[in-house]
Amino acid sequence: MLDLIPFGAVDPMAVSIVAAHIQAIIGAYTNIQSERSLPDYALIATRNQYDAAKILKALHGESQGAPFKLGLLQEDLCLPILTYVYGESQLGGKVAVISIHRLIDPRPEIIYERAAKIGIHEVGHMIGLEHCRGIDCLMHFSKQLDQLDGQPLHFCSACEYEVSRRMKRLVRNGIGVTSQDQRSLEK
Ligand SMILES: [Zn+2]
Ligand SMILES: [Zn+2]
Repeated sequence: MLDLIPFGAVDPMAVSIVAAHIQAIIGAYTNIQSERSLPDYALIATRNQYDAAKILKALHGESQGAPFKLGLLQEDLCLPILTYVYGESQLGGKVAVISIHRLIDPRPEIIYERAAKIGIHEVGHMIGLEHCRGIDCLMHFSKQLDQLDGQPLHFCSACEYEVSRRMKRLVRNGIGVTSQDQRSLEK
């Protein structure tokens, strides 16, 4: 259902952990794609950052691969109007991108946990969830790392219900079936 796409060199452990958590917590079958080159079209050279909106637009325009696409970068992401973003998605838009650039910590497991939380949060938006007011929930909006660290690695019961309802609907509509699955079913 979801392609996880590393852009440029990304710590392979971070890629696997993000994929495993999306699969376990959202229930979306996640396929790790081979590494692509950095999206030069999105580079804002004066800021040495990548424009998240341009990456989303490019992913959105791709007809190949799974219906949902999540890009992952080691490089810094921003929007022209914002100094930086950890991740960005289109609500219900099936594409998102995240960066592990600012998740710095001496303990790699902390970086991986933060990356997993941001990945799940953005996939939540992709399937149509909005921000949650409850702080004990992955859909709560965290501006800073200490807020992100205080968030649990799960949804509140209301968001959990919404995730499973939306996932069931996607599967019912055939969205959970990848184009590869579809081809093998037709044979
Ligand atoms: Zn959000
Ligand atoms: Zn919630």
